[in-house]
Parts: sequence; C-alpha cells; structure tokens
Amino acid sequence: MGRFAGFAVTLRQMGKARRVTTEYPKEKRPKPRRLHGRHVLNRYEDGMEKCIGCELCAGVCPARCIYVRGADNPPDEPVSPGERYGFVYEINYLRCIHCDLCVEACPTEAITETKLFEFSFTNRNDAIYTKNELLVDDDGRAKRMPWELWLGGEDDHTSEWMRATSPSGDAGYEDRVNWSGELGFGVRTPEHGQQADTGSGTPAAAPDHSAGGH
Ligand code: SF4
Ligand code: SF4
Repeated sequence: MGRFAGFAVTLRQMGKARRVTTEYPKEKRPKPRRLHGRHVLNRYEDGMEKCIGCELCAGVCPARCIYVRGADNPPDEPVSPGERYGFVYEINYLRCIHCDLCVEACPTEAITETKLFEFSFTNRNDAIYTKNELLVDDDGRAKRMPWELWLGGEDDHTSEWMRATSPSGDAGYEDRVNWSGELGFGVRTPEHGQQADTGSGTPAAAPDHSAGGH
C-alpha cells in the first residue's frame, strides 16, 4: 500500500512542478550576456571591416593564440576606414582561454566574443579560425561552421556590453554609448544596472547624456 501512496504523490506533482532540466543540447538555456565564447570580427554599418591590423589583440593575448598581419589599404578599394586593415587574422582555439583581453585591447571594437562555446573539432585545421571564418556575414551575424551548434541568439549581444562602463566601473559611463554602429545591428544599446557604490549606500548620480557618447 505504501508503494502506491508514493506513486500517488508522484502523479499529483506531475504537471505542477516547474521543470528545471532542459533537453540540452537540443535546447539551450539563455546564457549570460558577458559569457566569453567564439569570437567574431565585426564590420561597420557600411560593411567596412573594423579591424585595422594594429596587432594589439595579438600582443595582449596571454595564450599567444592570435596571429595578425596588417597591410596598407588599397586606395581604390579600402577594406577598412583606417590606413591599414587586417590582412591575415587567425585565432587558434586549441589555445584560447576566452579571457577576453583581446576584446578589451582592441581600439576599434573589431573583435568581440559571441556566447557560443558548443564547438569542437576533429582536426587541427578546423581549430584555427581564419579571418574569413571569423568575419561576420553581410547580416552582421557570425558565420556558422559545420562543427558549431548555433541555436540562435548566441551572437545577439557580442559587443553590446563591452564599453558600457569604464574598466574601473565608473558609474559616469552608465547608459552612455561609446561605441560605433555595427553591420546588422546599428548602434547597440548600453548595458544597464552597473552603478558604482559611492560609499554612502546610494548609487552614483546618472551622467549627463546631452553631450553624446561618440
Ligand atoms: S580570449 Fe584571451 S586567450 Fe583567447 S584570443 Fe583573446 S586574449 Fe587570447
Ligand atoms: S582586432 Fe582590433 S586589436 Fe586586433 S588587430 Fe584588429 S584592430 Fe587591432
């Protein structure tokens, strides 16, 4: 009899309890906006590449997994608005630790990280992403490789948050857009909810936006 009473409890709960598991990997939970995943190389709204081949990302990378070679822009057909552009750009994902330092170092917001971490390789060539693979497509979205599991949304917020506040968390930067528009997305909205504690128990005053942030 006790056994059937147990079943009765189970049956009563069926359909009532909130499901906490998901059918991963067919279904993914939303990821935090700041999660560091597979990179993309971004383009401006007019399609030009943001990378200027300065190599700062490669210089700062603690895993030494970025290889960049810059070249002068062809005067008749410039690739980026700068003097130079990223002629060769590679990231070796056998070494990347997704620390995001390359993103922080980049002066043009060219390199950012999506939320995708579901990618695995069966050979070394696939693990080394080339510029063509990293560069966003004509819609501004990450190109999908056959070995990556995109279910949508993983490249929605690649750079929205990155300069929402100053590195030290200065509340004066909150709500202030300090980055340029992106192909497919336009100018991304700033991240909210990062007010610094002033020590008095109240958040710092909101900044004056009238001067604009560009
Ligand atoms: S996320 Fe870190 S380890 Fe990966 S490429 Fe960027 S700087 Fe290097
Ligand atoms: S991604 Fe940014 S930091 Fe790296 S070479 Fe291009 S412009 Fe410079």
